[in-house]
Amino acid sequence: MFEKILIANRGEIALRVQRACRELGIKTVAVHSEADRDAKYVKLADESVCIGPAPSAKSYLNIPTVISAAEVTDAQAIHPGYGFLSENADFAERVEQSGFVFIGPRAETIRLMGDKVSAKDAMKKAGVPCVPGSDGALTDDPAEIIKTAKRVGYPVIIKAAGGGGGRGMRVVHTEAALLNAVNMTKAEAQSAFGNPMVYMEKFLENPRHIEIQILADQHGNAVFLGDRDCSMQRRHQKIIEEAPSPLLPARLRDKIGERCAEACRKIGYRGAGTFEFLYENGEFYFIEMNTRLQVEHTVTEMITGIDLVQQQIFVAAGEKLPFRQRDIVLNGHAIECRINAEDPYTFVPSPGFINRFHMPGGPGVRMDTHVYGGYTVPPHYDSMIGKLITHGATREQAIARMRVALSEMYVEGIKTNTPLHADLMADLAFQQGGTSIHYLEQKLGISSK
Ligand code: ADP
Repeated sequence: MFEKILIANRGEIALRVQRACRELGIKTVAVHSEADRDAKYVKLADESVCIGPAPSAKSYLNIPTVISAAEVTDAQAIHPGYGFLSENADFAERVEQSGFVFIGPRAETIRLMGDKVSAKDAMKKAGVPCVPGSDGALTDDPAEIIKTAKRVGYPVIIKAAGGGGGRGMRVVHTEAALLNAVNMTKAEAQSAFGNPMVYMEKFLENPRHIEIQILADQHGNAVFLGDRDCSMQRRHQKIIEEAPSPLLPARLRDKIGERCAEACRKIGYRGAGTFEFLYENGEFYFIEMNTRLQVEHTVTEMITGIDLVQQQIFVAAGEKLPFRQRDIVLNGHAIECRINAEDPYTFVPSPGFINRFHMPGGPGVRMDTHVYGGYTVPPHYDSMIGKLITHGATREQAIARMRVALSEMYVEGIKTNTPLHADLMADLAFQQGGTSIHYLEQKLGISSK
């Protein structure tokens, strides 16, 4: 087992990974930008290294500096968290070439899955159903693009092969708007992701976002840890996640879950990963795979009792999975609300000084956050400041606990989206379960279509 792990991230996930390491008696190294110097997890780490100024391009995304930090502290492995360098195949490669263990899949797997076109292709070959669309990337031939859209049927969505974080997508309703949309998405994809390649999918009008958590070791074993529903989204970004998906028959979940585990065995996957699907009319359509820990891994932890971060560490150290598929039992229901420093209805970020902060508590309540009263939310990073998670024997109980927990939460100094979450817990359609990915934007009267 490792003696020391460097955590190449910040915020709540840096603290989450640190907790997993400390429980196991593993020493931790925190790397931080100048803006995060005073963070709680930096103080709690055994060692810390400042890796540059506030902008992430100069600190959290600076590969040579992160690797030097591992060298000077004698860390043996690097946990990338989510975001930043977590899905950067070059980083994973450089980490291993420098003699450290990358806590995640092999670089070639990250590369295969990081390109959504090659990922879809690999999944089709592994027998996983995909959203109907173009056969690979779109060519430059306008007649060909028009023909493809006709075959797929409007509305279609143009997506960047290198896209992520809900960016690099455009919905097209008519042939008249098609070529312009393709060119605009290509230009955006080039500037945002350094890759102009785009592809086309049928735009599904009423789907839910359902994903499968998997875990695979280096000895050919792979299991799935149930599903999550992440349909409550704004601007293609999740804000509420839950496990299991309401109203999804267990039989269908197990069938798709087994396909995902099998796909992992086929591609020699290593570590934790997520298969994301759109689910409509009883059918699953693969959209992408995330080759890392996800923000919403917590709801899976609550219903399986398995610490996913610790499992990532065990797998990276070469251990065998300690359970088989039949040992995985889903217990009760869990919901996560992403707490963002932003206006609840316009989503405009609201960084700044928090003078008072009260965390909720009680049975079945978990709060993963690095903030506290007296903390300043820096303006340079993602607006998420924490995650509030509740667990109950039933979905109703998890919702009731979330309602109470949200009412206990008190943040003074900045705006948070807590009022929106409180509204959603009281929302009838949400309570009944199974809202589509477009529900929240329809309810708020905004549209990303
Ligand atoms: P990202 O990597 O940016 O998260 P995804 O491919 O995972 O991109 O898609 C994110 C979200 O965008 C989905 O959860 C869904 O809300 C929406 N979306 C993506 N593809 C489609 C589609 N074919 N039809 C309808 N909505 C889609």
